[in-house]
Amino acid sequence: MMELIERLYPLCRSITGQGVRETLDIIGEDLDLQRHEVPSGTQVFDWEIPREWTIRDAYIADAAGRRVVDFREHNLHVLNYSAPVSMRMRRDDLAEHVFTMPDRPDWIPYRTSYYRETWGFCLTHNQWVGLPDGEYQVHIDSTLAPGALTLAECVLPGESEQEILFSTHICHPSLCNDNLSGIAVQTRLFQWLSRRARRYTYRAVFVPGTIGSLTWLWLNRDRLDGVRGGLVLSGLGDAGGFTYKRSRQGRSWMDRIVEQALSDAGVQWQCREFSPYGYDERQYCSPGFNLAVGRLSRTPYGEYPQYHTSADNLEFVSENQLDGALRACQRIVEYLEADRYLHNLSPYGEPQLGKRGLYGAVGGGSGPDEFRMAMLWVLNLADGTYSLLDMAERSGQPLGLLAEAADALAQAGLLEPGAP
Ligand code: ZN
Repeated sequence: MMELIERLYPLCRSITGQGVRETLDIIGEDLDLQRHEVPSGTQVFDWEIPREWTIRDAYIADAAGRRVVDFREHNLHVLNYSAPVSMRMRRDDLAEHVFTMPDRPDWIPYRTSYYRETWGFCLTHNQWVGLPDGEYQVHIDSTLAPGALTLAECVLPGESEQEILFSTHICHPSLCNDNLSGIAVQTRLFQWLSRRARRYTYRAVFVPGTIGSLTWLWLNRDRLDGVRGGLVLSGLGDAGGFTYKRSRQGRSWMDRIVEQALSDAGVQWQCREFSPYGYDERQYCSPGFNLAVGRLSRTPYGEYPQYHTSADNLEFVSENQLDGALRACQRIVEYLEADRYLHNLSPYGEPQLGKRGLYGAVGGGSGPDEFRMAMLWVLNLADGTYSLLDMAERSGQPLGLLAEAADALAQAGLLEPGAP
């Protein structure tokens, strides 16, 4: 995943434009993507697709013509969505267009101005205080013109048309945890999913934040009934434990599966209730849709100082943490796929496990006692009213272990799998 992140890191992404397309080109090497271009000016619910932003160059030069701030050195240096400008101005006047972080004097802040036309530069506070009074040439070679908003999706059909949605944002420039970690995990998750049998249909959505998820919802507004649940993936590469933010529904099937998977995984995690702020879950969970879409992150956005700064760089994320996030997502998928109702075919007294060779049976890596206990729970609760998830919640046994026990019992003819 770090390899993918290293390739994507230098691209100057925004909510529209070439950076997004180049990002999707690279993801498209690994996944079969369907791309949508929605023209500027299109009305999307209460929003409008903005003009497309193209950035070619940006700098502040001193009187000698030396570039003292240079977009070519870091794409965070230009206020994202800056209008073009080319003029000479005094340092005092330039100050109104400069963003720095006095408390983190070596970091460049990430700032955007999508919906208000202006221009600006972001620089380290040390860079700014190091600039003497005098005249500077400011130059931003950009275009804001009619174009399109680009988004993409990868659909992996399953036995059922019922869908599980995964969504990540692709609109941030050189920032690793916020944006690239979600892209990397979602891409690898869908490569893995593409190679396995699927009961559900899985859809990976790669969208610019807010306007992109709104546009996806708008394009799909007549077929959202098929979405059984989903997850927004973001901020999965930092050193922290997991944070699961519940969907607006709170205790939906998706919410319960995710929480069960994280609990069973033995990883450090915390749960947060839904709030109408954050990433694209706030669109998926707006009241008109109310989809069962939660969010999986590590340290929540805004709760680490590197958030939205140049310090959210290649050193801030690690393969190990990304890999842990991928494994958590894989377990969630395995649980979604495994969960079903079960019927005990021998419900009058305990069936004799010994004569069916199940008494000393050992499940994958777990001791016989543990596995026997899981079989007893499954047999007892498999009255057709409990799903595997219900059984896991009631028994305190890991869902994965109960699923293995159910498989063994079904093979012995003691159990019949029912509906999902
Ligand atoms: Zn962000």
